[in-house]
Amino acid sequence: MAAKSQGKRGWIFTLHFPSYVPFMQYSGKRELRRKMLMAYISRGFRANKYDNREIIIKIVNLRLELAKILGFTNFAEMTLGDRMADKQTTVEKFLLELFNASKKAATRDFENVRKFAVECGHDDSFERWDWPFYSEKLKKKLYNIDDEILKPYFRLENAEKAIFDLAFTLYGIKFVPAASIPVYHREVKTYEVYDSDNSFLAIFYADYHPRPGKSGGAWMTSYRDQRKSEGTDIRPHISIVGNFTRASETRPSLLSFSELTTFLHEFGHALHGMLTRCTYESLSGTNVARDFVELPSQFMENYAYEKSWLDSWATHYQTGDKIPYEIIEQIKKASTFNEGYGCFRQLGFAFLDMAWHTIASPLETDIKEFETSVSGKTELFPVIEDTCISASFGHIFGGGYAAGYYGYKWAEVLDADAFSFFREKGIFNRESALSFRKNILEKGGSEKALALYIRFRGKEASLEPFLQRSGLI
Ligand SMILES: [Zn+2]
Repeated sequence: MAAKSQGKRGWIFTLHFPSYVPFMQYSGKRELRRKMLMAYISRGFRANKYDNREIIIKIVNLRLELAKILGFTNFAEMTLGDRMADKQTTVEKFLLELFNASKKAATRDFENVRKFAVECGHDDSFERWDWPFYSEKLKKKLYNIDDEILKPYFRLENAEKAIFDLAFTLYGIKFVPAASIPVYHREVKTYEVYDSDNSFLAIFYADYHPRPGKSGGAWMTSYRDQRKSEGTDIRPHISIVGNFTRASETRPSLLSFSELTTFLHEFGHALHGMLTRCTYESLSGTNVARDFVELPSQFMENYAYEKSWLDSWATHYQTGDKIPYEIIEQIKKASTFNEGYGCFRQLGFAFLDMAWHTIASPLETDIKEFETSVSGKTELFPVIEDTCISASFGHIFGGGYAAGYYGYKWAEVLDADAFSFFREKGIFNRESALSFRKNILEKGGSEKALALYIRFRGKEASLEPFLQRSGLI
């Protein structure tokens, strides 16, 4: 299509993710893969008018200046004060511990793929542009899983009911259809949500299907956040929005496994929004520290892998057969494939992000030199000249992840630790759920996230549950 629209024959591949990633994974043309990778990681670093070298230095120096004006030693200290991690040293300690814990698995993954490439006839040096191609091939060989295969077992209506029932089991809350509530589109479903003592908690909106003009992806949002006003508890209006395939004349709406986890994820955010009991709107519900906000959502995703939960509702929409749990086991195993390497890559970005934002005095150095000196320890491939990730690192220089990239792994460690607490006492245990509700879901950002977590868990999160779940130990 892209080629045709430009009046060319053949195919055009671009550096946009939906084009770039499959190309790197599936193209057997090594030289083209090299070219694509080089183009990708030299964006903003080609000594032309789009070169970002000077802009990067300017950004980090200005961020440092801002932090100093406000009395902080560096930019990281300034932003981390509002996060769960709180301090530069906490983040550095966390990253280092994870680095040490995942080193072995990362090297193991690297060697496995390298050896597999040799088995496939690769007889040159093993380079970064070979990685996506051979690791995808190896993944196919080890786990030939199709995300679509479970669809007949995940009928949307059944999944919705099962998720509402799960919320009832854990928290005693009930979802009552309330069709009279005004909506912005006739497909939006509405519910009144009641607590176990029948008191009113929230209004819940669900907008599941794609339609022209609607954004892609899935998210949770609120039309009214919870707050207290002159002694009255104003309850929230919370919505989840998705793009799940709609029913056809012959088939009901069926979810893939990843759509089921997405549903659980957004529902976790929704619970955070609906169960909250705070005074101020700006601190209620999901208005929490950025490295804490994904705990309730990622926590819920864990249920998608639990046999006892799936067995209670996931049956084939035509035959009524129970879900074949071997496939879930396979999905679980596949989800740990190359996690060591993946973790190492993310740590590399997190170290780089922290390095840029903990400089003590203005920089004048070459950004490539700075990057190489920081990334060396997590780099398993040879350094590639003329490329520099920092120059196109949108997350930390463009978006709001400055001194926050560590948050991805931080959130995973948290949710794995929280779920392990549930696992100890039973994943449907009311007591654990009550503690999660009282100390996490109800509190929003009204107290320090770490204090809340410790109150729920009895201690700080440890790395082990995450390492185990990801197959790193
Ligand atoms: Zn989320």
